[in-house]
Amino acid sequence: MEKRTELDKIGEFGLIEQLTSSFTNHHKSTILGVGDDAAVIDCGDQYQVVSTDMLVEGVHFNLAYVPLMHLGYKAVIVNLSDIYAMNAEAEQITVSIAVSNRFSVEALEEIYSGIKKACDLYQVDLVGGDTTSSQSGLVISVTAIGRVDKDKIVYRKGAQENDLLVLTGNVGAAYMGLQMLEREHQIFLENPEIQPDLAGVDYILERQLKPEARKDVIHYLHDLGVVPSAMIDVSDGVVSETMHLAKHSEMGCLIYDEKLPIDHETHRVARDFNLDPSTCALNGGEDYELLFAIRQADYDKIKDSEHMTVIGHFTEKGGSLNIVQRDGSLIPMEAQGWNHFEQN
Ligand code: ADP
Ligand code: MG
Repeated sequence: MEKRTELDKIGEFGLIEQLTSSFTNHHKSTILGVGDDAAVIDCGDQYQVVSTDMLVEGVHFNLAYVPLMHLGYKAVIVNLSDIYAMNAEAEQITVSIAVSNRFSVEALEEIYSGIKKACDLYQVDLVGGDTTSSQSGLVISVTAIGRVDKDKIVYRKGAQENDLLVLTGNVGAAYMGLQMLEREHQIFLENPEIQPDLAGVDYILERQLKPEARKDVIHYLHDLGVVPSAMIDVSDGVVSETMHLAKHSEMGCLIYDEKLPIDHETHRVARDFNLDPSTCALNGGEDYELLFAIRQADYDKIKDSEHMTVIGHFTEKGGSLNIVQRDGSLIPMEAQGWNHFEQN
């Protein structure tokens, strides 16, 4: 009998590992392949960084409540975020779409108006892509290309013992925005007469529907003269991303629950949903904030910034990964980020 392994057996990261581990590089210019936020290519004086992310209808977005323009915008942002996570400057994107005849030209123009907004705001150039038909849902795949000075590149690996773990902005908001949209959508499906009640939740909706990438933080760190020792962007939740930094750096790590930056709207809505705000902040996804390690000696340079919060620190080589709860007790970090193959 032919062997058949179900996808949910090995998970997303296991699958990527299994599919790509037998590949070897043929070019000296390939500095880093699979495994970080972007691939790193030697292009002479500088490094070029390349990253791809795909958004699939029904998996990553629901067009019942996601406006097309926002979808285009977000498809670009999630890719730029991976470029900034390498401490690089994004310069170009390509955009590939698969569409069915369910979509009109006007609908696709709407998506592209969002893509253009992101290109203009983040100063990146649309330089190509591909267009094809799809039997069912809409698929948007974006590739982003950026550049960075060789001595400024930052990987997921590189955090050292006693480095501080720093998070930009606040977290959990995009997750609560999604919960809100899902709830109102369910109510609408049950009774289309009822108007969605989305008053007072503008911030979390914006964080879900129209996220931003932290280009500003990359520039800010540059101006401060701080090069993080390791960095990742927060697409799958703080705990999951911290585990990537710690594993790649082979360091133990502590996150202090009480230090997590949570917006008051996120906090209030989490409570309304009977969810623990800390859990939402630790495990919610799609915030597209940056999470990085800095040397303690650099603390003075960042400590007055409203953009950054120290949420923990790296411990010893090979050490364990724990969350320090408000009562001082430790719980082990467990990745609870999105697992695309998990069966409900
Ligand atoms: P991110 O969350 O930052 O977008 P991913 O978790 O999607 O990163 O991907 C992790 C790494 O695996 C990246 O280096 C990515 O380029 C690589 N990767 C993901 N899927 C594939 C694939 N199908 N084939 C080759 N490499 C892949
Ligand atoms: Mg990433």
